[in-house]
Amino acid sequence: MKLGTHTSGGPTKAIGVGNKLGCDSIQLFTSNPNRWRPTEITDEVARKFRSDWAASSIDPILSHDSYLINIASSKPKILHQSRRALHLEIERCAKLGIPYVNMHPGAHVGAGEEEGLKILVDSLNDVLAKTINSSVSILLETTAGQGTNLGYRFEHLRHAMDRVEQQERIGVCLDTCHIFAAGYDIRTEEGYERTFQQFDQIIGFQHLKMFHINDAKSTYGSRVDRHENIGKGNIGLEPFRWLMNDPRFEQIPMILETPNSEEMHPVDLKILRDLEE
Ligand SMILES: [Zn+2]
Ligand SMILES: [Zn+2]
Repeated sequence: MKLGTHTSGGPTKAIGVGNKLGCDSIQLFTSNPNRWRPTEITDEVARKFRSDWAASSIDPILSHDSYLINIASSKPKILHQSRRALHLEIERCAKLGIPYVNMHPGAHVGAGEEEGLKILVDSLNDVLAKTINSSVSILLETTAGQGTNLGYRFEHLRHAMDRVEQQERIGVCLDTCHIFAAGYDIRTEEGYERTFQQFDQIIGFQHLKMFHINDAKSTYGSRVDRHENIGKGNIGLEPFRWLMNDPRFEQIPMILETPNSEEMHPVDLKILRDLEE
């Protein structure tokens, strides 16, 4: 399995961290995820990133967008800022050679799901059109559905995928903690099979480009987004054993976003590797 972690410290640190942990794949922030004003990727940073990457065995590298971005918002100012920030994110990824940017579909903040999904589609089309010659794709992540967040049903992602103009530039990231909190029960073998059958029917495995592999501190169906270390949460260890030995997912990067990363990412990686048969 292509195992890896989210890495902190941005493009100057990510590959070093990934190498040290023996990651097959990594995720990073290309800029501070809590700020609107982005850090520019200088030519020097990009050159070093690309050469360190070429010398490593890490592949692919994926980006996670800023926490502030909400491209489903009905509030004009936030929506404008979000579209612009996503556009710049795609440009930074292109400069670094990163093929995918992962993002949450966004929150409708009171306007209702139908309206939120409509704005999401318009935003995706807007940003994809502005970056039409880019080979960077957007991955829409399954969410826990906390608050007014969209993306807690596979149908939400399918809705957007059907309506974007550049469909080849849209993929999906499945977060195990989020789907569990959203009400997809993967704790039994039967539930695991049913969930992935639904995923395949509604979204299609060919569009699955990444897993976020997290146990859940939140309870089943709670719609609360709280990650836990592998085997310590409400999903438990067994479903991760099934995932780690599921031949359908051999080529899909599985990225940890578990708590206390510095101390626990090596532990969680080892737990997952030991589950591989
Ligand atoms: Zn995630
Ligand atoms: Zn989360």
